[in-house]
Amino acid sequence: MLKRTHTCGALRAADTAKQVRLCGWVHRRRDHGGLIFIDLRDRWGLTQVVFNPAAGGELHGRAKDLRSEFCIAVEGTVQKRPAGTDNPKIPTGEIEVAAAGIELFNASATPPFEIAGDAEVSEELRYTYRYLDLRRPELRDRLLLRHKVLKVIRKVLDGEEFTELETPVLTKSTPEGARDYLVPSRLNHGSFFALPQSPQLYKQLLMVAGFDRYYQIARCFRDEDLRADRQPEFTQLDIEMSFTDEETIFALIEKIFTAIWKEALGKELAVPFPRLTYAECMRRFGCDKPDLRYGMELTDLTRSFDGTGFERFRDAIAKGSVIRGLVAPGAGGMTGKQVDGLTELAKQSGALGLVTIRVTEKELVCPVAKHLGEETMKRIVSDSKAKVGDLILLVADSPDRAGLILSGLRGHLAQVLNLIPEGKFAFAWVTDFPLFKWNAETKRWDSEHHPFTAPKQEDQGSLESDPGKVLSRSYDLALNGVELGSGSIRIHDRQMQEAIFRVLGLPEQEVKDRFGFLLDAFRYGAPPHGGIAPGVDRLIALITNASSIREVIAFPKTQKAVDLMVGAPSEASPNQLKELGINIKK
Ligand code: ASP
Repeated sequence: MLKRTHTCGALRAADTAKQVRLCGWVHRRRDHGGLIFIDLRDRWGLTQVVFNPAAGGELHGRAKDLRSEFCIAVEGTVQKRPAGTDNPKIPTGEIEVAAAGIELFNASATPPFEIAGDAEVSEELRYTYRYLDLRRPELRDRLLLRHKVLKVIRKVLDGEEFTELETPVLTKSTPEGARDYLVPSRLNHGSFFALPQSPQLYKQLLMVAGFDRYYQIARCFRDEDLRADRQPEFTQLDIEMSFTDEETIFALIEKIFTAIWKEALGKELAVPFPRLTYAECMRRFGCDKPDLRYGMELTDLTRSFDGTGFERFRDAIAKGSVIRGLVAPGAGGMTGKQVDGLTELAKQSGALGLVTIRVTEKELVCPVAKHLGEETMKRIVSDSKAKVGDLILLVADSPDRAGLILSGLRGHLAQVLNLIPEGKFAFAWVTDFPLFKWNAETKRWDSEHHPFTAPKQEDQGSLESDPGKVLSRSYDLALNGVELGSGSIRIHDRQMQEAIFRVLGLPEQEVKDRFGFLLDAFRYGAPPHGGIAPGVDRLIALITNASSIREVIAFPKTQKAVDLMVGAPSEASPNQLKELGINIKK
């Protein structure tokens, strides 16, 4: 008899005296000599089961043999816990089940790590035994929340008449700026499928096909070096709409996120999200994914150095550098060692040095005070609006590099100075990105977003004459300083698309081979369209405060892109290789 009457999270005081049968795993077991207690766990929760010797020696003997992670069913009667032994921390904490019988489905070997405890376990062990790792309530709850979020997304999009459609996984390269995963073709030796870096071109073709509104909870594959918090395969909420514009897409995304916050998290989210242009973002925060949870914005202090005697900065300014600064509130008391740490951090992101000024009641303390002179220092303090007790950080470099360095310091300081309000979520739209960025290595223009992004109408004239000046109709969604997703209004005109490929320096033949099908489709009444693709893993990681997206993916890969549980990737057999026409050079 496998059936259960309740889950392990269901029983309450009102169920007292009911005969029940629960199925689950032994989470914890406590032997009090006479009474034996177990916490029985399933994915809904925990229920305390008590074995009383009075219920019979045979049953008690079997209860004695139970160990952690045995999979069992328990039958018994619900009773209120004795006064003073309630556990208000769990929803079933008022009751327990007085056991009258057990059925053992399967014993368990001693797990390689404790499921019930919260001891640090190495990632290697956790990933090798992921099915046990996933039994841990914290991880399980994150995946359950992930499911809830996806459900809300589907509900909202369904209400807006979006169609959920699947696109191929065996396909052709989609340029999203990463390396492709390739799959050899057995039937066409020497030919390869690429796994999609995103469904970008398919979703655009679905617009040409007239579906009007598409979405997919889509798996994307990018063969990147996994230094940062990345996974070779990850999930996006991929969206595309026809006859649309930026406003419609922003409003749709805000609707989805408010619903997620309300229905999955039980919280209100303020909309519309603040909007910043890329230029404003770079100016105020030094990066294109601003963390708006706290202030500490960057200031341009180049003018404060007018007529300065400080050679290093004077020369830098003469060569086109700017001086950008950051005021760390209340950090004037940092020790020399802490300030050295900041300099080290700045150097790691390419700074030649970092100049600091402590604003104290009595004086301005600066290692290069002698060179700067009192007057310049005072000007810096007043231009940067620093107050007594603050620490001013100054970097001389190109605007972008100085921004990058200070943006790293800003994030670091916000942490150490405790400036980040707990539980706060600050979204931001970033718009008006440049369409291209110059690649100094290849000496070519690259797309800032992807090559299918439309340029701003007013910049179209400069497309081929001055590509660096052209702004695009792309937008990013940032959350708490993390890029959550990006999208754009697309090109739907064949000539325009061809012009973009020209600026990118793609030879005509290559364009034909790689994107001929898209250009062809644009000949048949392609509608104007646009879309976006927020990252699902990243979103869940942020809302569950997880340290990594690996903590919200059921079966993640390690930093080295390995699935330790199944042992993938693995070698192919000689026979498989032969069928594929592949020779491996050792
Ligand atoms: N395909 C894009 C990406 O993966 C998103 C989009 O433009 O819709 O970033």
